[in-house]
Formats: sequence, C-alpha cells, structure tokens
Amino acid sequence: MSCKGCSTSVIVSTQEIEKLVEEQLLLEDDLVTDDLFKERLEHCKQCPSLMYDTTCGHCGCFVQFRAKLAYKSCPYPGGAKW
Ligand code: SF4
Repeated sequence: MSCKGCSTSVIVSTQEIEKLVEEQLLLEDDLVTDDLFKERLEHCKQCPSLMYDTTCGHCGCFVQFRAKLAYKSCPYPGGAKW
C-alpha cells in the first residue's frame, strides 16, 4: 500500500491497523453507539473513495477510527454520506 500523501510504500497489516485504531480510541470519550458505527461503516464500504478497504480518500483517516467519533462526519465532496 502507498501512503495517501506520497508514493512511499507503507506495509501495514489489517491487524496492525485494528490495534492502532483501538489504541487511539482509548483516548477518545465522544463515541457513537455500536449500531451507528456499523451503519457509518456500511456507507464507507460502498463508497468509491474508500482506499485499501481501510482509508478515506478525502481525509486520509482510517474509517474505523473516524466513524466511531461522534464529532466527525463524512467528508465526501458535495454531501456527507453519514
Ligand atoms: S468519503 Fe465518507 S463514506 Fe466515503 S470513505 Fe470517506 S468517510 Fe467513508
């Protein structure tokens, strides 16, 4: 996988991403419910801007992190998908 911001190759496994997201979410306290989280991720899974099955092509966030944060929204141009 290449970094969104450059052509540098970034080798990160799904397990590593899940661990990173889990660690970062421990620092957050404004989280959505599991149901809303799943609903948001379903939009991401269908989105043409999802890269590598993990990363939003507009903000560069891991969607599993961004979708869990209550104060975040989808950055899709022309209208948020969630
Ligand atoms: S644009 Fe929105 S729906 Fe698409 S991957 Fe990014 S956060 Fe998910």
